[in-house]
Amino acid sequence: MRLVLLGPPGAGKGTQADRLAARYGVPHISTGELFRAHRREGTPLGKEADRYMATGRLVPDDVTERMVSERIDREDARQGFILDGFPRTMRQAEEFADILTVRGLRLDRVVALEVPEPVLKERLTGRSACPSCGAVYHRRFHPPRRAGVCDACGTLLVERADDRPETVTERLRVYAAETAPLVAYYRSRGLLLEVDGTGEVDAVTAAMVAGIEGRHD
Ligand code: ADP
Ligand code: AMP
Repeated sequence: MRLVLLGPPGAGKGTQADRLAARYGVPHISTGELFRAHRREGTPLGKEADRYMATGRLVPDDVTERMVSERIDREDARQGFILDGFPRTMRQAEEFADILTVRGLRLDRVVALEVPEPVLKERLTGRSACPSCGAVYHRRFHPPRRAGVCDACGTLLVERADDRPETVTERLRVYAAETAPLVAYYRSRGLLLEVDGTGEVDAVTAAMVAGIEGRHD
């Protein structure tokens, strides 16, 4: 199963990718999370990525593409992957098509999660995440059992600096300018599945699975 999750920041890509990864037994690959891991470890790539992430801009295409192709070449991604946050520009989409072609692979679906802007802002404002296992929470919509502590592994949760309102505005602008055109790109290739991302987490998962597996209920 090779899926791409497309959608603006806060649409629920990470939340849904975890569930789809468990269902299909393939890794959840989040480029944002890969960059954050590099930043935590203080690698040269992490330092370079932070120059862009801190202000809500995109990390340069060549750096991002290299990181993704290395990641999908790892053993655990042999049977597939759920890609979350890549591709994010037309150039990345075209390069990704080449990356797959040279490996004899093809994408099964690109799922676009649709969520209106006021809801995105509400979701991003209350978001926290576990720096250890990656679980995502929300102060109101998906609170952990103990405030500030990960249900899954007990680690202290962190809020992302780029979820501050001024950075969120820039990220939404960048999405509209750079990433939104990919919806039409994948539609024209017959790969697009559009899913309403505004319902409860379980309802969104069910709609995605129904679309991916070709059921219409
Ligand atoms: P993305 O990866 O697209 O940026 P996330 O999966 O991190 O989005 O979700 C953003 C925030 O919204 C998180 O705090 C998450 O807990 C919350 N969230 C995700 N899906 C839903 C949903 N269907 N309803 C309410 N809140 C949600
Ligand atoms: P995310 O976790 O998907 O919200 O991504 C966080 C940040 O990482 C983004 O605001 C970008 O700065 C960077 N990033 C993630 N994925 C990409 C990508 N495909 N291309 C460029 N930058 C990215």
